[in-house]
Amino acid sequence: SAKQAGKGRAEHYDVMLDERLARRRRLDRDMRQALTDGGFELHYQPQIRLSDESVKGFEALLRWHHDAEGWISPAEIIPIAEATGFIVEIGRWALHKACVDALAWQGRRVAVNISSNHFKLPDFVENVFEVLDVTGLSPQLLEIEITESILLDRSYDVLGNLARLRVRGVRIALDDFGTGYSSLSYLTSFSFDTIKIDQSFIRNLRDRPESAAVVEAVTLMARALSMEVTAEGVEDVEQLNLLLSKRCDNVQGYLYGRAQPLCALPQTLLQIPQYRQDARWVEMPAV
Ligand code: C2E
Ligand code: MG
Ligand code: MG
Ligand code: MG
Repeated sequence: SAKQAGKGRAEHYDVMLDERLARRRRLDRDMRQALTDGGFELHYQPQIRLSDESVKGFEALLRWHHDAEGWISPAEIIPIAEATGFIVEIGRWALHKACVDALAWQGRRVAVNISSNHFKLPDFVENVFEVLDVTGLSPQLLEIEITESILLDRSYDVLGNLARLRVRGVRIALDDFGTGYSSLSYLTSFSFDTIKIDQSFIRNLRDRPESAAVVEAVTLMARALSMEVTAEGVEDVEQLNLLLSKRCDNVQGYLYGRAQPLCALPQTLLQIPQYRQDARWVEMPAV
């Protein structure tokens, strides 16, 4: 009967929910262990300045190889860590590790993702300054990536914290722009150094004129506000050419390179592809 079928579905649903909760608990336990055992790594994805296709810096992205499950995506563990508060431990570790690693990059920046509930801790700004003091990294070489959700929280002095970081010279990037509770007024309430257009707009640049319009609007606005624009998730030359035509400043994506372990970066730097030259060649009339 329909009633029985409904009951069956409900039980099935319960089992799936139980499994998901059990996995979350397991991952929560294992990631605490991983952080103390040195099981976490940071991989680095190049950020390319389009004017000359040079590597301007790298974004630090968390990587975890789980003994039993293999590589586990940050998209799965970051939300768990955010829910338990463990993200603060991860964030402190990542900040320190990224600053140490960046010392070897001869003036290239490092971008570190910081979750809202880490950013809002009263000692966050002091922690950042401590890491800069201890490592000796120039503040101008550190960029903190935050998301718009930070700006919604009125329970603490968000803008004050951002301003203190910036006075010291630390750069601030607004990540995943366009996916949150984007309000243009946020962009004028604080002077960010960089706006990162979310990859969802880049993915369908070719097929959706709306996305191209968003990219154009954001780049124009950013220029008027003296901020840089970085496009995330650039995977092909067609997207690149469109971004060039909109005068986007920087790009990040598989087209130029995926996130790599630290030891692979010297090689990565030698092998960054140069598409702009190629594009000009293609544009030349055939003789
Ligand atoms: P995000 O900060 O927006 O980072 C960009 C994500 O897009 C990364 O995924 C990157 O590997 C991926 N990506 C880069 N280029 C391309 C491309 O061309 N195509 C596609 N399809 N994807 C591309 P990842 O490493 O899986 O990280 C996912 C998210 O997890 C990050 O998004 C960030 O929000 C969070 N995350 C990663 N590491 C950390 C961390 O250390 N701390 C915190 N709080 N969050 C982190
Ligand atoms: Mg990011
Ligand atoms: Mg992003
Ligand atoms: Mg993100």
